[in-house]
Amino acid sequence: MSDLSLVVPCKNEEESIPFFYKEAVSVLAQLAESHNIKSSEIIFIDDGSDDKTLEIIKELAKNDIRVHYISFSRNFGKEAALYAGLKRSKGKFVATLDADLQDPPEMLSQMLDALTKESFDCAATRRATRSGEPVVRSFFARCFYKLMAKLCDIEVVDGARDFRLMSRKYVDAVVSLYEKSRFSKGIFPWVGFKTKWFSYDNRERIAGKTKWSFYKLFLYSLDGITAFSVKPLMLASVLGFISVIISFFLIVFIVVRKILFGDPVAGWASMVCIILFLGGLQLFSIGILGQYLSKIYIETKNRPLFIVREEK
Ligand code: UDP
Ligand code: MG
Repeated sequence: MSDLSLVVPCKNEEESIPFFYKEAVSVLAQLAESHNIKSSEIIFIDDGSDDKTLEIIKELAKNDIRVHYISFSRNFGKEAALYAGLKRSKGKFVATLDADLQDPPEMLSQMLDALTKESFDCAATRRATRSGEPVVRSFFARCFYKLMAKLCDIEVVDGARDFRLMSRKYVDAVVSLYEKSRFSKGIFPWVGFKTKWFSYDNRERIAGKTKWSFYKLFLYSLDGITAFSVKPLMLASVLGFISVIISFFLIVFIVVRKILFGDPVAGWASMVCIILFLGGLQLFSIGILGQYLSKIYIETKNRPLFIVREEK
């Protein structure tokens, strides 16, 4: 068992890995001095890269026994990569961080303090600001976090990064959640424990480019909501109930009007509007049901989260 494990998911990071490794090694050397971290391991997860990522990692592993890797048979996504790394890690403390140095490894020192000196189980990070991000993306991200806060019983922190330092107990708890649609931002608060938050200013990635498009982020957020809240299912019933009440009063109104004034101009336009409205409401509700049904479908297949092609 080593003292500290670094878990690093990599998808096409050939340009970033050398920078990351250099930085990580120097931070580990400092931690050996300051925090008595005697043994450590760096676990790279090659998430189906189609550039030289794996070759570079293998080269590092040849020269440094602390370097380990898991190479997936194809791209399974960052969540699966993180899971694989956490499961594989043996450290008393485990940190997850990106290969692009957007998660500054030098922060590990103060994060370790929180776990060793202040009895926290997890040191988590969040972005202090959203500067440098496109305005539209920031706007939708904020809306998403507000919606999450309303819908979920767990607290999903705005701007939370996947950069964390965790105790063994915490990691074991996270790994014990073996669900297929993994949404870390929800899984971490769900397992509980005591978490200390650190803020830091947003950094540009050291090299390469981000793998997230706006569309991917949108799908990811929908996934997050349906993975952690069943309230959208209730929404369908509530909307249905409201429209029944409204239509009941409308029927009473029409019947009374008919009795008092006879049959005035027939309301074709309003009829079409109502039919469209109710049709839309039904499709919307079926859509929500479908989201949950698809989750059950995926979970019952019980396929593995990832498949390993080679590892060391
Ligand atoms: N990543 C991964 N699999 C993927 C996409 C990304 O392992 O399918 C890794 C990527 O190599 C990086 C981290 O996850 O180390 C964060 O990705 P990225 O920098 O693209 O995201 P951002 O920092 O822009 O949120
Ligand atoms: Mg990044």
